[in-house]
Amino acid sequence: MQQIDLNYILTHLGENREDYFHAIAPPVIQSSNFAFPDLTAFRTAFSDELHHHVYSRGNNPTVEILRKKLAALEKTEDALVFSSGAGAIAAAVIGNVAAGEHIVCQQAPYSWTIHLLKKFLSRFGVEHTFVDGTDINAIKAAIRPNTKVLLLESPNTMTFEIQDLSACAALAKAHSIVTIIDNSYASPIFQNPADFGIDVIIHSGTKYLNGHSDVVVGVLCADKAMVKKIFESELMTLGGILSPHDAALVLRGLRTLPLRVKRSDESANYLIGKLANHPKVARIWHPFHHSFPQRELAMKQMRGCGGLFSVTFKTDSPDKMEAFIHQIERFLMAVSWGGHESLMIPTIGFYNIPGRENPVIPYTFVRFYVGLEDPEWLWEDLEKALLLL
Ligand SMILES: *Cc1c(COP(=O)(O)O)cnc(C)c1O
Repeated sequence: MQQIDLNYILTHLGENREDYFHAIAPPVIQSSNFAFPDLTAFRTAFSDELHHHVYSRGNNPTVEILRKKLAALEKTEDALVFSSGAGAIAAAVIGNVAAGEHIVCQQAPYSWTIHLLKKFLSRFGVEHTFVDGTDINAIKAAIRPNTKVLLLESPNTMTFEIQDLSACAALAKAHSIVTIIDNSYASPIFQNPADFGIDVIIHSGTKYLNGHSDVVVGVLCADKAMVKKIFESELMTLGGILSPHDAALVLRGLRTLPLRVKRSDESANYLIGKLANHPKVARIWHPFHHSFPQRELAMKQMRGCGGLFSVTFKTDSPDKMEAFIHQIERFLMAVSWGGHESLMIPTIGFYNIPGRENPVIPYTFVRFYVGLEDPEWLWEDLEKALLLL
């Protein structure tokens, strides 16, 4: 795929303004169905619903503009959007396996991806193996004759484990296995898995792509054949589509994607610089930090990191950790990330919740997301709270 200029993608691609009064902002075509002037048009549309306007569970004009931009951002031929990132992951995986087949997945993906394999697909006779994705030999060893999907998430979003994308793609191709990656962490601004030969690229568009914490949306980017297959089967059958109104909001969000992701990246680096020198900090978790075990690979595959990083703090009691967390005011305590607002997930919040405790991550661990606020203003807040540790 030839690279299309980012400026062109965000400002012009897919926007046929002559079709709608030369409006700058594309209209929300809030219509469930579309009429045909004659039988020839009717037949043409029904022969290819993905590219004609028949019914909005299939192809809606507002949603179509978004799809075109997303495909270009990920350097793939086509894209689909779903009502959530989880929906996009499920469609990509389900679309490439059948009963009796097997999936290899990196060991620490998004929680509902684990659920999809363990609780959902196992009911339909689809097997899976979780492997240490930082070790290509472990991935290789997990491949069986019936393996059909290699499911990656690089980096993941708590500890930022990385898979070698070129090596994974080559290994999978040699065994006719489809590679699927959750690329939400890096966004298309900082990593394009298609460059390394990955087949299907997924995003939780809820995060950076929309970027305003007001839409839940999923994205699937792939070649034409894969997109057509998943459109005709999982998207049309399971019907987890995005509404035209939400698509317009995501289009609005995309206009500022590079500005936002780079701002979050710079601000995260600013805060990491401050934190790294603080006596109460035990460890910084961030793919580009000099202490990160896979830093070299991260820098080979990614152009930047964005606003997510984690910290293990030094303290001698859970009570002090709780006091520290409660003192922080300018990072909201909330799941998700990728919006305008800075957030934190303190793992001490999972204490005593069955099934949510992570034995690998101690109670002194906090996952931060840095939004668009002034990083100095955020540091003031953290510095004050650190006195309580
Ligand atoms: C949030 C998230 C998802 C799920 O996306 P939804 O839009 O919430 O369904 C999947 N993968 C990653 C890495 C995420 O952060």
